[in-house]
Amino acid sequence: MPRFTPLPYNGEPMHLDSQTEQVRAPRPARPRASLHTIGCRLNQAETALLADRLKRDGYQLVEHGEPTDLFVLNSCSVTEDAEKDCRYQIRRTLRRSPHAFVAVTGCYAQTGVEGLRRLSGIDLIVGGQYKMDLPDYLPAPSDLAKQPAPLVLHTNTIERADFVLDGTGACDSTRANLKIQDGCNFMCSFCNIPFARGHERSRQLPDVVREAEALVARGHRELILTGVNIGQYRHGGRSLLDLIKELERVDGVARIRISSIEPTTIPDALLDHMAASAKLCHHLHIPLQSGDDGILQAMHRRYRAGDYASFLQKAASLIPDLCLGTDLMVGFPGEDDRAFANSYRLVANLPLAYFHVFNYSARPGTAAVKLPDVIQPATLSARAKALASLSRAKRLAFYQRFTGQTLPVLFEAREPSGLWTGWTGNYLRVGVRSHRDLRKQIEPVVVTGAMDGLAVGHLSGAGGSA
Ligand code: SF4
Repeated sequence: MPRFTPLPYNGEPMHLDSQTEQVRAPRPARPRASLHTIGCRLNQAETALLADRLKRDGYQLVEHGEPTDLFVLNSCSVTEDAEKDCRYQIRRTLRRSPHAFVAVTGCYAQTGVEGLRRLSGIDLIVGGQYKMDLPDYLPAPSDLAKQPAPLVLHTNTIERADFVLDGTGACDSTRANLKIQDGCNFMCSFCNIPFARGHERSRQLPDVVREAEALVARGHRELILTGVNIGQYRHGGRSLLDLIKELERVDGVARIRISSIEPTTIPDALLDHMAASAKLCHHLHIPLQSGDDGILQAMHRRYRAGDYASFLQKAASLIPDLCLGTDLMVGFPGEDDRAFANSYRLVANLPLAYFHVFNYSARPGTAAVKLPDVIQPATLSARAKALASLSRAKRLAFYQRFTGQTLPVLFEAREPSGLWTGWTGNYLRVGVRSHRDLRKQIEPVVVTGAMDGLAVGHLSGAGGSA
């Protein structure tokens, strides 16, 4: 394994302790590390594991934006804006902490390594293959210092073998992301994730269970299964459903939630199990991208709009309180008014509770960059607005369906307004007033009203504030 050889820093190790960057003081005994994630839930799960490892290596974790000695950026390259944000976060950190050692990993470090190499202020770039070993390539905490040029650890290809991960994700939330899978073989024409993360591979099942047990021991009550294409989970002949059943047996796991999952990878047995299970949340986020068959074909998606619609109707009829969400992309090349109208009409009529709307962004190396009929930014933004507004209306209608019902809520935190908020299994965000400490508790709540994105109510039996 390559080992980082730290270069000497001129003079005493120093850090800036004030916002004005005028006052210098010796570095504290435990150097500070801040981590920042751009992008998806899988990146968040990985950052949590890196944070855990840095803590064990003696770093003191500080909030992103605070003065720091080490900055780890887990980057994203899914859109041009995500890459722009990566560059901005590096500049922002260096303004506050000009002596911070800057390490960049994640999808942008894999796909945009040459651009990052030319950016000033980066000390270490770690591509996908070595991402989870990033702490091994840092200088010893006492030797952290800016480098004249970044050390780059990058391979063009990423190993396909199933994997294990070290440690237990460190995060403050009641709900913990749990990485179970990586990579994707689907090659949708707009997506550079297969280049950034490589082929499909799964985390070894006993290792997933090990981290689940450790997360529960740290007080997490809900596990959110994350990956790039988690419906493709396979390890030792065991599927995603087998893994879920194993996790349900872990003592102390109150809830398991499936994060985004591709429509063609959900077997009926998984829906049946969700309908019957007391622990598997009644929530599915199933990316549609477009409701027009021509566009779906150009995107290399593996279904037609009608297949998607039938699947959603089946899921909703099997699991009546199911929350269904989706991803929609606007402005894919060739998306004319008729194609957009097909998408709009389809999602308006489906039992969806919300959509995440993304603007198409041409990604170098993908098949779609060669397509003609690029959509003008004004059209793209008008379409995104129309869908976002439809999503708000549908979410409000979904929330209102539950007025008068009593739902179990896993509470997370007390808002500055004094409201305790948490989530139901079917992904309603609920707020109540209570004098009790509700954090990490699952309590029945009578829902009395709903706004877009927040249902309000009272603890069952409390009749008001408890
Ligand atoms: S399924 Fe398609 S959109 Fe999703 S990661 Fe794979 S290639 Fe990208």
